Amino acid sequence: MNHRTHLSELVLLFGIILSFLLALIVYFSQRFRLKNQLLEEKELLLKLFVKHTPAAVAMFDKHSCYVAASDRWITDYGLAGKSILGENHFDVFAKQLKAYPHLQVLFQRAINGEVIVCDEDVFVYDGVTSWVRYELHPWQTKDMGTGGIIMFSEDITSRKKMTLMKDEFVSTVNHELRTPLTSIRGSLGLLKLKVFDQLDAKGKRLLDISYQTCIRLAVLVDDILDMEKISAGKMAYHLEVHNMYHLVKECLDQSQSYADKYDVVFDLQCSLSDVYCRVDKNRFFQALVNLLSNAAKYSPKGGTVVIDLRLTASGDLRIAVSDKGAGIPDDFRKNIFEKFAQADSSDTKEKGGTGLGLSITKAIVETFGGTIDYVSLLGQGSTFYMTFTPVSFWDGYTSEESALMTDFAENPVC
Ligand code: ADP
Repeated sequence: MNHRTHLSELVLLFGIILSFLLALIVYFSQRFRLKNQLLEEKELLLKLFVKHTPAAVAMFDKHSCYVAASDRWITDYGLAGKSILGENHFDVFAKQLKAYPHLQVLFQRAINGEVIVCDEDVFVYDGVTSWVRYELHPWQTKDMGTGGIIMFSEDITSRKKMTLMKDEFVSTVNHELRTPLTSIRGSLGLLKLKVFDQLDAKGKRLLDISYQTCIRLAVLVDDILDMEKISAGKMAYHLEVHNMYHLVKECLDQSQSYADKYDVVFDLQCSLSDVYCRVDKNRFFQALVNLLSNAAKYSPKGGTVVIDLRLTASGDLRIAVSDKGAGIPDDFRKNIFEKFAQADSSDTKEKGGTGLGLSITKAIVETFGGTIDYVSLLGQGSTFYMTFTPVSFWDGYTSEESALMTDFAENPVC
């Protein structure tokens, strides 16, 4: 009896151990399956990422043979339907790249560990020119050896063609429009000076209109050319340390014609006479004249435009130009410094202009390390202000500049 009980206990124990082992096998096989499934999913996602990445990207091994390529690469390089995996890039494009051995050199340099970035390379094949931007990055294997390279490339042909067209347009505007316009303006000016009094009323009106139209066109052409120069980073700046009060005063004297034209008074309220900043005199004038002419243009007849120089709490020089004009609508704030931006009001249309002045002004001010902004209240007026960081007395002046400053400090104006 005792022996039978013992046997059945053994069978029970064996059964429990067997079930436990079975459960373990089921558990681990499920875990293994799940892990595999996750790996497969990850691999699929990675493949999808490479395939659908919205850029022409390809991965090569150490021998410049394709490991993977995005769909964009396949379409950009006309490889649809061709099996390129495992093929050498320079065999796939044997004809196209025959004349460009430098690319093989760059591939080799990247395989040796260098990152290559080429902003513009030009290729001509079958009479068609294309411009390409590309980057070559080495990739590393688990043991940190170079596995090959990843290449990113972008066809910039249409952008390049646009730039070339723009350059051509700017040079045409310069030669075919600006030069004759300057001589027409000169001739009309001369006529106004010499024969204006001998003309009858109609003749005087016609001459006046022609002269004003010519000036407006010249301003437009100059603004377009300046904007283009700024965008292309070709605007020349001659930075020197200047006494800012002197500069503002001189600029105001030269801009009196704007005040006369719009029947306003420029009132310089100076509280500083010894602040010096490093700016380009002509470009500074261009920026300030734009603010002055806008203020005069939008002021009521007989109004006063106040020009104020003061130091801010942080020690910067603030030059403000205030008018009591119509003000600027709030919703125009986000666009006001953009190219060709004009507030959508009948007032603006009536006053004319190109909508380029403030964007040119902003670019100039920022080149001097300054800032520009404004406050405005509809129906009450606007204040545009530029801030510049003054240079300290000992801060790298030339001896001429130092002499000029000492002289001025001893004979202040305000
Ligand atoms: P433009 O004066 O040639 O149109 P700007 O770039 O100098 O070009 O100015 C852009 C626009 O900003 C103007 O058309 C006008 O709508 C608005 N603006 C600029 N300054 C003033 C001002 N002082 N008062 C009212 N509106 C202004």
